[in-house]
Amino acid sequence: MRVPAVIYADASLLRDMDQKVYEQITNVASLPGIVEAAYAMPDAHWGYGFPIGGVAAFDPDQGGVVSAGGVGFDISCGVRTLHTGLQLADVRPYKQQLADALYKAIPAGVGSKGRIHLNHDLMHGMLTGGAQWALEQGWGEDSDLERMEEGGRMVGAVASYVSPKARERQKDEMGTLGSGNHYLEVQRVAEVYDQHVANVFGLRVDDVVISIHCGSRGLGHQIGTEFLRDMAIAASQYRIDLPDRELACAPLTSPLGKQYLGAMRAAINCALANRQIITHLTRDAVKTVFPGVHLGLLYDVSHNTCKLEQHAINGQKKALFVHRKGATRAFGPGHPDLPAVFRQVGQPMLIGGSMGTSSYVLCGTQESEKRAFNSACHGAGRAMSRHQATKQWQGSALVDDLADRGIIIRSPSLRGVAEEAPGAYKDVSVVVDVADRAGLARKVAQLEPLICIKG
Ligand code: 5GP
Ligand code: MN
Ligand code: MN
Repeated sequence: MRVPAVIYADASLLRDMDQKVYEQITNVASLPGIVEAAYAMPDAHWGYGFPIGGVAAFDPDQGGVVSAGGVGFDISCGVRTLHTGLQLADVRPYKQQLADALYKAIPAGVGSKGRIHLNHDLMHGMLTGGAQWALEQGWGEDSDLERMEEGGRMVGAVASYVSPKARERQKDEMGTLGSGNHYLEVQRVAEVYDQHVANVFGLRVDDVVISIHCGSRGLGHQIGTEFLRDMAIAASQYRIDLPDRELACAPLTSPLGKQYLGAMRAAINCALANRQIITHLTRDAVKTVFPGVHLGLLYDVSHNTCKLEQHAINGQKKALFVHRKGATRAFGPGHPDLPAVFRQVGQPMLIGGSMGTSSYVLCGTQESEKRAFNSACHGAGRAMSRHQATKQWQGSALVDDLADRGIIIRSPSLRGVAEEAPGAYKDVSVVVDVADRAGLARKVAQLEPLICIKG
């Protein structure tokens, strides 16, 4: 190991943590050019190469690397939350109607196709323009952009590094949710922990919000697959001794490293555009039930990325490439990259739980920078594999149980629902409490599900 490995957890999370996390985070700590430490967030579980919930920063001047497995297959998978301006009492009588309208409007499920077909020019615009491009195409409102990381457009995307196969997979998938772990959820604010920050975020108890979780669909997956293969082949050429082939990586300054960064940034734009188009579809769908309602964006976060950021190492600012795989960025108050609306309080962080438990809104803190390069958990994190979950739960029974608790589930796949059983995830309340107590982030509000459209 070149640096220590640090796992943020309490005794119960540690006891139940996948043994693979220990092995994987130790391996990450041995990669060239890693600085400070390899971190595992409290929701960490086994992933390809890096654990999901893994955070690691690399110095390009010290032989630092970029790893496709350190970003994940669903590049820039993330969550955005929309205000509805409605209260629980407004929505309650129309829940079924709203669920039907949303399910009809948002294509969901494996291989789902959207209504948009990208020709070569549109594809290029999307890969380089992200949500800004989506807006130019008429999917959204100008005010949306400042409420996204990178202002909705990742600079440094190089469309020519995105292969024909990746493009082919994406050409009919814009504006689609994708499979089981992805969702569109109507939620109510159940509790507020930090009144001041919640005011800035526009959250009050019983407000109804809509959260969208999805990523870069087939395009991101194809880019991840291709570069993992190329990085594994190139490792010996770069004299990188891999503790695990799944950790395939390339020096940040190498041609392959730069190609991956260019393609990965294009995939970030794809995810930003995808969530933007889904937002537009959601706005139209909600209007069919609540004609006067306007959905304003709270914020959009990505949790599978590698980003160039300034961080203090031994008191000196350094430009580092921070991998966050299943980890949310947590910029604290005053961070220069935050939009003016959030600069006083820190960045909103949108944390999924499950379709049957709470989700949370957290906030970056002043301490976040010192803990794990301004990062925290991205969800509850899986407690068991999808396969194990399908042995333990049945989709139809879960849908019925949740209906009894007032939660409407709509999904094209009952098997998918079983894989995503709330019991297959860690206890999200414990996870966010640990994040809060460790100073990774601060708890702002708790959300409860009302309607979940599952991929
Ligand atoms: P991932 O990006 O790792 O697939 O998922 C992120 C997190 O989303 C998971 O760790 C889990 O806690 C959460 N999650 C998965 N399905 C749902 C859902 O249907 N609703 C909500 N609110 N959260 C979910
Ligand atoms: Mn995700
Ligand atoms: Mn995803």
